[in-house]
Amino acid sequence: YHAKNEGRSICEYTPSLDADTNQRFVIMSEMAEAIRNDELVLHYQPKYELKTGKIIGCEALVRWQHKQYGLLPPAKFIPLVELTQLIRPLTYWVMKTAMAQMQQWKREGILINVAINLSTRNLTDEDFIGQVDSLMQEFEIEASEIEFEVTETALMSNLDQAMQQLNEFNLRGIHCSLDDYGTGYSSLSYIKKLPLDVLKIDRSFISQMLEDKEDRIIAQSTIDLAHSLGMKVIAEGVEDENTLRELAAQGCDYIQGYHISEPVDAESLAKLYWEHR
Ligand code: C2E
Ligand code: MG
Ligand code: MG
Ligand code: MG
Repeated sequence: YHAKNEGRSICEYTPSLDADTNQRFVIMSEMAEAIRNDELVLHYQPKYELKTGKIIGCEALVRWQHKQYGLLPPAKFIPLVELTQLIRPLTYWVMKTAMAQMQQWKREGILINVAINLSTRNLTDEDFIGQVDSLMQEFEIEASEIEFEVTETALMSNLDQAMQQLNEFNLRGIHCSLDDYGTGYSSLSYIKKLPLDVLKIDRSFISQMLEDKEDRIIAQSTIDLAHSLGMKVIAEGVEDENTLRELAAQGCDYIQGYHISEPVDAESLAKLYWEHR
């Protein structure tokens, strides 16, 4: 079969042959420019403290306002970007945008921690901590006001370097949480060795926990383990009041999930903050 026989070039055929591959190709070829042109946006999902009923923090979650595809969720581009060096300028953009927003919030009297998701390459990048320091200085952000989220998988892919990077955070007083806890290797020996402040129980153990006894047991033992090791615990993916109550009864510290709010733009996050005072 020759595409040329139809009077068209092979290039015109590729998209219809595999629309997904084509979209991925477009995404990667446009990402560098998207970062430069501020086509990315941050949404913020509140972190709610069970003891006080207050919003004490939020997680910055990136989206891409794409000309052709509309608002793209991170699942569509982060895994691709993570395969390349472009994850460095992307994370830098996220940190800079989040810190500029925090500075603005502080002027409005909104005191809220912002958590930023890191990828493997950020943990092995020797320039990274210097970037963090200079952005914190530029936007007058204290170490206690930001937090990094890292997954078990990201840590494990280069444990020695990741450990060094986490130690740098720790020296400054920047908190670090273990994201999607329970879905990776969850080796207790490295949890013990790493300077982690928060365990973040993955949504997959939380969303059915009222119906599923095993999930309830996993949640309770994770909470107890974290507390015994001097860490705080946050549960992600809380979608209803009964799950909130169950986690409060289990002694969980914080929750995140659609029950409190989906990730929202900065203005809506500010409204939620005041509503929970
Ligand atoms: P994550 O860090 O585990 O973020 C939580 C994801 O769960 C978010 O999806 C959030 O919208 C979703 N979620 C929160 N609460 C609920 C709930 O109650 N129910 C359900 N069904 N889902 C809930 P999102 O924003 O699509 O982000 C997906 C992943 O993309 C994140 O997972 C994170 O791994 C990655 N990501 C997002 N932003 C960044 C970034 O700036 N840098 C890096 N490296 N990764 C990012
Ligand atoms: Mg996260
Ligand atoms: Mg997570
Ligand atoms: Mg997750």
